[in-house]
Amino acid sequence: MLSDLLQSKWCEGPGWLYNNEESWPCSEVSETLDEAFLEQHKTVVTNLATGNEVRFGDRFLYFLSYKKILRMTAYVLRFCNNIKRNSSKLVNSLSCEEIQKAEETLIKIMQSEWPSKIREKYKDAIQFFEENGILKVQTGLILSQDQEDFTHPTVLPDHPLLERLVLHTHRSLMHAGVLTTLAQLREKFWIPKGRRIIRAILRQCIKCKRLTAGKVNPDPAPLPHDRIHRVAAFQITGAELAGPLSMRGGSE
Ligand SMILES: [Zn+2]
Repeated sequence: MLSDLLQSKWCEGPGWLYNNEESWPCSEVSETLDEAFLEQHKTVVTNLATGNEVRFGDRFLYFLSYKKILRMTAYVLRFCNNIKRNSSKLVNSLSCEEIQKAEETLIKIMQSEWPSKIREKYKDAIQFFEENGILKVQTGLILSQDQEDFTHPTVLPDHPLLERLVLHTHRSLMHAGVLTTLAQLREKFWIPKGRRIIRAILRQCIKCKRLTAGKVNPDPAPLPHDRIHRVAAFQITGAELAGPLSMRGGSE
């Protein structure tokens, strides 16, 4: 069978293909509607509302570390400054001022993506005001001698960037708990539903998860055969092989 197939030279195509084009056989293509309908593929168009809109702030989640995000933003701002004509060009390592400006930018992005519906819920209870385009809260501690950041904390709504900031603060406090992390953040920021949000974020910390994991209780092993069989006294005996352990100082 294989030799027949090799002799047939099927891979060289039909014999008439080597002749002139005029001598090629011509046959009309039969078009029947039934055959055409059989070949026709049905196309179903489905529209799905996924709700996974990519916000502008999500583009800053390039790094897991908040510090790296901050530096990346500072470099982006530096680039925007340097491409402007007649601007003083910024070079060398990032300055403290540039980092501060980058943090302000990130805060503005977080605040701009805070749904107005949620913000309106707090309008009656909390007095907001804007300072240099940053939304702040006016507390009752205006007359206290505390720092301005504490008396007028910046609003930080729930946002993926806030998640990075909370984890950064949590790590800088040597993996402190929810209340300590919240207390540290409250020195500068006001986070709506802060305790609940921080608790949810800190659950993601792998190190804390590992240290607070519950102990494993294995099922007790069954007693060996020799200990559960009814036999005469001293028929089965055992010896303690561990023996007295010598301790430091020569005592046993
Ligand atoms: Zn942790």
